[in-house]
Amino acid sequence: LPEPIRDSHVAVLGFFPVGAHAGPLLAVTRRLAAAAPSTIFSFFNTARSNASLLSSDHPENIRIHDVDDGVPEGTVLTGSPREMLEMFLEAAPQTFHREIAAAETEVGKKVTCMLTDAFFWFAADMAVEMKATWVAFWAGGANSLCAHLYTDRIRETIGVKDVRTEETLGFIPGMENYRVKDIPEEVAFGDLDTVFPKALHQMSLVLPRASAVFISSFEELEPTLAHNLRSKLVRFLNIPPPTLLSFTLKRETLVRDPHGCFAWMGKRSPASVAYISFGTVMEPPPAELVAIAQGLESSKVPFVWSLKEKNMVHLPKGFLDRTREQGIVVPWAPQVELLKHEATGVNVTHCGWNSVLESVSAGVPIIGRPILADNRLNGRAVEVVWKVGMMVNNGVFTKEGFEKCLHQVSVHDDGKTMKANAKKLKEIIQEDVSTKGFENFKVLLDEIVKV
Ligand code: UDP
Repeated sequence: LPEPIRDSHVAVLGFFPVGAHAGPLLAVTRRLAAAAPSTIFSFFNTARSNASLLSSDHPENIRIHDVDDGVPEGTVLTGSPREMLEMFLEAAPQTFHREIAAAETEVGKKVTCMLTDAFFWFAADMAVEMKATWVAFWAGGANSLCAHLYTDRIRETIGVKDVRTEETLGFIPGMENYRVKDIPEEVAFGDLDTVFPKALHQMSLVLPRASAVFISSFEELEPTLAHNLRSKLVRFLNIPPPTLLSFTLKRETLVRDPHGCFAWMGKRSPASVAYISFGTVMEPPPAELVAIAQGLESSKVPFVWSLKEKNMVHLPKGFLDRTREQGIVVPWAPQVELLKHEATGVNVTHCGWNSVLESVSAGVPIIGRPILADNRLNGRAVEVVWKVGMMVNNGVFTKEGFEKCLHQVSVHDDGKTMKANAKKLKEIIQEDVSTKGFENFKVLLDEIVKV
């Protein structure tokens, strides 16, 4: 990349207490910072999240700041993601205000651009006040961004729902394949006056004021949606996930594999292994974890299962012993690299956006069990838009249902079609990374570092 000779200060508000948000934003920031060495990037995130993200080097022009997570001292948390979210959102505007002012003094430069998680709707006014531009990162796909941006229109057209219906969203260009039952609950269900739905609604109203909104994705995945989003937003950009951008940063090639997944994968035949993970927030309830274990045991499919340590107690008695030769259960796996491994045959996932993107970028078909937020929309794209996988029956794992899915993906003609479609998507994505994706990255860079 040509080195832009600019001298700006970007405040990156990365922290979001739930889901895989701060990681992808930091990864983009690292690329931007490497490409614009004379710009300072002040990255704000909680100490805990920073500690988990910053194991590798980062360019010197990124300054890391630990911020408060908004949980009042002495609070006994119930552990619900919603609770953490709400406490954080209530405190966030003041917290960021204070921290940004301190960073400006430290750096000796006013902030020229606010680069934030799109959920931070308050950044729209903050940026105006600070005479800075606002660039927002939406941590999901075009489908969920669109559902949120059309919240008012959806509510006017279909009403406020108390049950998930089959009606389609054909009145929104690009959303013809999606149904009311697929949209995130904050969009069409319930009260917009409670903390989180209200914040999301505010976001849908202010995002059109951002000078650019970008997602981690590829134009070709849903071109009609991309076109629609360009009509709603000042600028809408699909940026390839940083791990795919052709330039890799020093030391980032080091892959953490503390539980020996690669050694285990190395002994398996091509496309034979089921990789299982449900992301960073929640996992299916204990009865379904049991069904997964039983389905694996009876189908004898080799597996790598990333399961949170606290949920390992739900595995059936003796399961780990009986399946010692068949698979491994680990508390964390190097997912991106495992999905690219030739032994991987299927990705069993909750359909979080990152997991879906990582899977299709690697040409791996999906068995989906959506859990929350945008998961249903992504699952619908997998099943109906790209036809690269299937959802478990009625959205719930049973032993027989899971066995059937595994069989269908590995043996059936349907499975062969899914695999062929996944391979085609992988090729489209590879082509896009070095052409449109790279161009979009340059546009984003320019938007962020211009003074
Ligand atoms: N992930 C990983 N190893 C694991 C579990 C998850 O690397 O053992 C990563 C995965 O590659 C993905 C992210 O965690 O990038 C999960 O993001 P996603 O958007 O799929 O789900 P969320 O956690 O936001 O629900």
